Amino acid sequence: MTTTVADAPAALGYRAAADAGIGSGSRSTSRVLGRVRARVGEGRGWDGVDLEALSESVLLESSSALAQIEREVNAMHAAIAHQIARRSDAGPGGLARRQGFQSPAKLIASQTGESTAEAQRLINVGGALAATIPEVDGAGGSEVGLGSTETEATCSADAQRPSRPKYVHVSAATGAGKLSISSGNLITNMLGRVEAATTSEVRLAAERDLVDRAMRLSYDQLARAVRQAEAWLDRERIEQTHQMLRDERCLTIREDQAGMTLISGKLDPETAAPVRAMLDAMVAHGLRERREQDRLAADVRSVGQMRADALGIAARHVLGCKSEKLPMSPTAMVVRMNLDDLRASAGVGEVDGLGQPIPASVVRRMAADANVIPAVLGGESEVLDLGREQRSFSVGQRRALFERDGGCAFCGAPPSFTEAHHIRWWERDDGPTDLENGVLLCVRCHHLIHRDGWGIEATVSTVEFVPPASVDRNRVPRPGGRAMFDRPRDWRALGDGESVGATAGVDSAADTTAAGLILERP
Ligand SMILES: [Zn+2]
Ligand SMILES: [Zn+2]
Repeated sequence: MTTTVADAPAALGYRAAADAGIGSGSRSTSRVLGRVRARVGEGRGWDGVDLEALSESVLLESSSALAQIEREVNAMHAAIAHQIARRSDAGPGGLARRQGFQSPAKLIASQTGESTAEAQRLINVGGALAATIPEVDGAGGSEVGLGSTETEATCSADAQRPSRPKYVHVSAATGAGKLSISSGNLITNMLGRVEAATTSEVRLAAERDLVDRAMRLSYDQLARAVRQAEAWLDRERIEQTHQMLRDERCLTIREDQAGMTLISGKLDPETAAPVRAMLDAMVAHGLRERREQDRLAADVRSVGQMRADALGIAARHVLGCKSEKLPMSPTAMVVRMNLDDLRASAGVGEVDGLGQPIPASVVRRMAADANVIPAVLGGESEVLDLGREQRSFSVGQRRALFERDGGCAFCGAPPSFTEAHHIRWWERDDGPTDLENGVLLCVRCHHLIHRDGWGIEATVSTVEFVPPASVDRNRVPRPGGRAMFDRPRDWRALGDGESVGATAGVDSAADTTAAGLILERP
């Protein structure tokens, strides 16, 4: 039998002809999930299904269904892995040893065929999800006996007292198959590390927020958000972390057999910031030149090649080349710090374009450099709405957009890759040059948004993207900007001041322009 696109749902196992319609929204999605679940349950695989004939929407729904099932299965496996680990605790008499394995992770890895590290992660997540804390009334919990009151359900002496999962949001989301165990592991590990430095109320708020965002972020983006969260939750430790990263800096250069020179290394944020700023600015310049060129003489270099050329040109320049100017957009590093932190001479700051927060002492040291612009968050604000008087966004406006969007508001790319765009177009829609009508986007996302018809809704402090019906039938807005990729806004109320409308802290900032600020054509 040949399966055609039209009867693909039947091939997936639909029985009622009336149910066979695709594209009817979430009902169709849950039907596909049900059918895929049944096939997994029965171990039938894709037997009898002509995969070539599946429509795109059934293909996507099937993939999403399998991902959902995989997350559910992993959550179940994590709970079992935790039990195996508990029963292996008894040393030589423990379960893993009796089965001939050095550790429970090795036992589980032998079953899954994955790495021991992967198995250990299952065990860790299972442990975190099994942990409970006593239920307390009131707003989110007391700090009495923190640490010592946190016990595991099965060995708790006071099992009578009502308790709740220690990581209630991660538990719920992984249990429902909405959060992968890798993401859950990132969040619970971080929350465990900041336990001594935070109240349970703040941790709960952070957990809820990170779980919420995790469902929309890639693993790498979530890792960055978690890193930021950790720095803000445990400000004392950031000096230590920074020193640790700094001690690990290293760069090696060698020649391989093909005659290529291999450069590899690890740079701490302070060392990386100028390197990133320089390379990004030179690549951004190259990309912009390319867009302005005619197509016949197009620059066909890849971004990787541009970056390699940039390093070569910069090195020649340092060695005294005679060409007067480097081919790069005018650039400076921008370091940011909250006004309260600045006054308190402690705390956390950041360098635009890098995900890793830096200690206040480093912000201060870097701010002393002539080519670094210190931006103080929560300082006095300037007039940031220019209406129809001026077409291009002012430096002050772009700083405020940086503060709101952090980089590309859609994908989180570094600021130097972004341009400020009018959301309602200047010419076509009479769009004003106001913050609510501005957004920072990288070139790729800008094209994608126009091509696929995404909507953008912005206020002074938030930006959201409305997917086209082809991406999400219900067109549910998705948060973007810093609130999505970096430290979430709603914790600010818990710790520090509002910071809309960043202003430059020094006058010399007027003639230097921050990386990315100047990229839009006048
Ligand atoms: Zn982007
Ligand atoms: Zn546009």
